[in-house]
Amino acid sequence: MPVTKKKPVKKSNTIKLKFDTSWSYDPAPESKSAATIKPQYDLFINGEWQKPLSNKYFATINPANEEKLSEVAEANTADVDKAVKAARNAYEKYWKKMPARERAKYVFRIARMVQEKARELAIIETLDGGKPIRESRDFDVPTAANHFFYYAGWADKLEYAFPNRKAEALGVAGQIIPWNFPLLMAAWKIAPAISTGNTVVLKTAETTPLTALKLAEIIEEADLPPGVVNIITGAGETGAAIVNHPDINKIAFTGSTDVGKIIQRAVAGTHKKVTLELGGKAANIIFEDAPIDQAVEGVINGIYFNQGHVCCAGSRLYVQESVAKQVIRKLKDRIESLIVGDPLDKNTDIGAINSRSQLETIQKYLKIGKQEGAEMYESSCPLPKKGFWCRPTLFTNVAQSNRIAQEEIFGPVLSILTFRTDDEVIEKANNSPYGLSAGVWTDKGSKIFNMTRRMRAGVIWANTFNKFDPSSPFGGYKESGFGREGGLHGLLPYLSLKV
Ligand code: ADP
Repeated sequence: MPVTKKKPVKKSNTIKLKFDTSWSYDPAPESKSAATIKPQYDLFINGEWQKPLSNKYFATINPANEEKLSEVAEANTADVDKAVKAARNAYEKYWKKMPARERAKYVFRIARMVQEKARELAIIETLDGGKPIRESRDFDVPTAANHFFYYAGWADKLEYAFPNRKAEALGVAGQIIPWNFPLLMAAWKIAPAISTGNTVVLKTAETTPLTALKLAEIIEEADLPPGVVNIITGAGETGAAIVNHPDINKIAFTGSTDVGKIIQRAVAGTHKKVTLELGGKAANIIFEDAPIDQAVEGVINGIYFNQGHVCCAGSRLYVQESVAKQVIRKLKDRIESLIVGDPLDKNTDIGAINSRSQLETIQKYLKIGKQEGAEMYESSCPLPKKGFWCRPTLFTNVAQSNRIAQEEIFGPVLSILTFRTDDEVIEKANNSPYGLSAGVWTDKGSKIFNMTRRMRAGVIWANTFNKFDPSSPFGGYKESGFGREGGLHGLLPYLSLKV
């Protein structure tokens, strides 16, 4: 793999770690030939591939080498209207009338087909988004299939989920997803919506449309009645057209807090139900009694794997003072051993940053961190010449008020702070506009319960991090949004309950 020359260290507070090049793994690339990507994709509306009324297409590239993978349609307001009409028609004509056990059969079929095509989906996810194949193969795709299985199981059991209530579908759901988990987010949104009897118009993120379009092919092959799931592509304007369409009953959005605020303003005073899953700045807390090696590995998993492109990433680390030196030393050693490079290689830990603009955002924060007086350590690993890359980086000497401790960076960048007492760390952890997730590392069960009770975060992991299961609800407090996805709670946003 081509490597760039290391740039000279300019800032005195930047310290490059030394990369041990004396040994390395042999390349172990997954084969691209197991995936078929068409040169061009139209919009999946009413069970058919339809040319966009806009007549416009845009390219989707591989962020690891900047090569074009395909081009996808850019849906305009008229295209969105067509998709919503198809979804409404499908809802009124057959989906809401179909017995729930029959609906479930379709969703089970989709789940099984996602499993059958797992390898192809994982390769496409990695090519289009830049994440390591290990992540897409072992996490994204199986978890997406599990969501379809899980919600298919609920379809004909809603009377048990909500006893003494009549659960009714809402109608047409408009769903907008981000680029960090393209297939999984599509599954999170589509599975509960259609299992509960709603129909869907889903828009992918502009940089990662391909696995959702593959899912559309699966849905077509599964013979889902036309219009029950419509999958369209486009950027922010297409998303806004969905949000503002008068015949949509529910908006489900995952993305940035800024866009979440725009959406909330847009639907205020309308009949539309909304769920928003927004940004995060998770506190990961290591107490002195924690199993330190496991905690260090949990921190690495929480922020570096997946390039930090995770809204619940453990990007703020709080370490108890007595073990801070030890933890920081181990973290520095560990980031130096992380493998950054070809996302299709099975040994890669950190793949490509999803887009040039995201890389620029991360680089902006690296500068801000140094200007704020924090000390920056980055791995000395070589980076490929083409594509978008960021070395795993950590900041020490970070103050609670620093922007790198308060704002979402969405990259492989960790801000490390220290604390002395439980009360202090709870106050610091809660001192954030966000409240999506958190982690606690300690060997005391009582401490775990004390922390989880007092911390304002939707998901709190104890002695682990970034673990997901379709049966667990996920969602945030404060500017991380509202509503829950996953589990029994994830059924509610798609239902109205009547006595
Ligand atoms: P990120 O910063 O993670 O890219 P965004 O919030 O910008 O997050 O994007 C998440 C999703 O929201 C994408 O599918 C994007 O196209 C869509 N989007 C962007 N702007 C708007 C908007 N004004 N209304 C609706 N959707 C939007």
